[in-house]
Amino acid sequence: MADSSQAIVAGIAVKTDHFINNQRVGSARRFIDISPIDQTVLAHVAAGGEAEVDQAVAAAKAAFAGWAALGPHGRGPILRRLADAIERRNDDLALVETHDNGSLLEAMRLRVMRRAAYNIRFFADYAENLRPAEWDTQPANAHNRVCYDPAGVTAVITPWNAPLMLATWRIGPALAAGNTVVLKPPEWAPLTASLLADCALEAGVPPGVINVVQGIGEEAGAALVAHPDVERIAFTGSPETARLIGAAAAKNLTPVSFELGGKSPFIVFDDADFELALKTALGQYDNAGQVCLAGTRLLVQHGIYDRFLEGMIERAPHIKYGDPRVAGNEFGPLIHPDHLARVQRFVDGAVRDGARLVYGGKVNPQLGGLYFEPTLFIDVPPRAEILRKEVFGPVLTLQAFHDEDEAIAMANDTEYGLAAVIFTRDEARANRVANAVVAGTAWVNCFFVRDLAAPFGGARHSGIGREGGLWSFDFYCDVKNVCYRIGTFA
Ligand code: NAD
Repeated sequence: MADSSQAIVAGIAVKTDHFINNQRVGSARRFIDISPIDQTVLAHVAAGGEAEVDQAVAAAKAAFAGWAALGPHGRGPILRRLADAIERRNDDLALVETHDNGSLLEAMRLRVMRRAAYNIRFFADYAENLRPAEWDTQPANAHNRVCYDPAGVTAVITPWNAPLMLATWRIGPALAAGNTVVLKPPEWAPLTASLLADCALEAGVPPGVINVVQGIGEEAGAALVAHPDVERIAFTGSPETARLIGAAAAKNLTPVSFELGGKSPFIVFDDADFELALKTALGQYDNAGQVCLAGTRLLVQHGIYDRFLEGMIERAPHIKYGDPRVAGNEFGPLIHPDHLARVQRFVDGAVRDGARLVYGGKVNPQLGGLYFEPTLFIDVPPRAEILRKEVFGPVLTLQAFHDEDEAIAMANDTEYGLAAVIFTRDEARANRVANAVVAGTAWVNCFFVRDLAAPFGGARHSGIGREGGLWSFDFYCDVKNVCYRIGTFA
């Protein structure tokens, strides 16, 4: 590659340098970005460190006062132009994301990139319509008024499984609240963040408001979260990395919002809509299982367990997977050879722990590469690692339960608490179980319905904090109470 500051991906030019103060900034060191589709080299991306992070944080800090002073109605039109720019480049973004992280092209085009634009638009609108609480305190004869003050420079660190959607989910509310942003994209899928920077330029986002520092987590990411001028850290990724970030944040007392991994239960009662539950269970293989919210522990009531298992065995071979650019495929490859090795270790460990492999368990022999077969385990010993740790691959376990109490106990027997999926036709039971499960989101007879006004996050090791609607502004703002005595003004 002659000029490594730009890569051509599926015919689309993508800049591979950082984006600081609305300018492209290079680095002497670069890292190699490969495509999981066929493991070809896509780009040589700038590998930032402390110097680039310092520069980006300084730019974001300098831009903060001006951006905050615009207020929600001044920022709103700019952010809506950014959403428009993302929408205009929808198909380019989709193609680049698919080549970079192996997600289905059709899903990227029709849903995920649109959601990226919507993340920006929704929070711009929300900030404009925010009516903070006001009330009187008697007998003190005082009036309280809540202010949502922008907090300052926000660090956004994202994983590779849905990089642009997850970046905009944090950047949208951070910017709408009046903060400025330094984004550190994932090193296994860094490219759409660079196109987002192009969109910001096109939309007229002022210099320093959005900055992108590319690089390796332990270098660029670590420097960013340790920076004393960062006022908020929004991190999406694994609990292991969250522990490191939490320790760095503690030194500066920087507030964090963590959206982490899961091992979510998928509970099917014997009165459930069987076909809907089975179809949704098979859908947990989507994105090759690289979905934080996936219900990977299938818990099915005894009366329908055999039928459910037969259904999985019958349908799984018909799941089409392979090249994510090919219409009709239902999922693509794992992200990286290192990740494949990790998934394979979990599968081999499950067999060693005494779990019974029903189907799958290896790379598809015809497809090769990073295309892992849909995999199912039954008869899993209760302490087996495969029930406890997030695999982040197309690997499900199936267990039977007798009654509601046992289903709840099994569902909650995990250190995670991201989501729970419940299938039953009994409304009272649905409510009891939804109330009892430890989870940030409990879906009943549905999956993955996301309303950006609803709280989102994880309990236990699945996260710290909630975002969505006002919850986002609670995090990205310094919430202040102004309290004055009534009748004391001239
Ligand atoms: P990861 O924790 O390895 O990396 C995430 C990001 O952190 C990357 O950008 C990486 O470069 C950076 N990073 C790594 N070390 C760092 C350090 N020391 N300091 C600062 N930054 C550092 O996670 P991953 O493998 O990219 O993503 C998969 C994980 O993300 C899974 O656990 C998945 O469940 C989780 N996830 C959660 C959600 C959610 O909304 N809860 C959404 C998507 C993914």
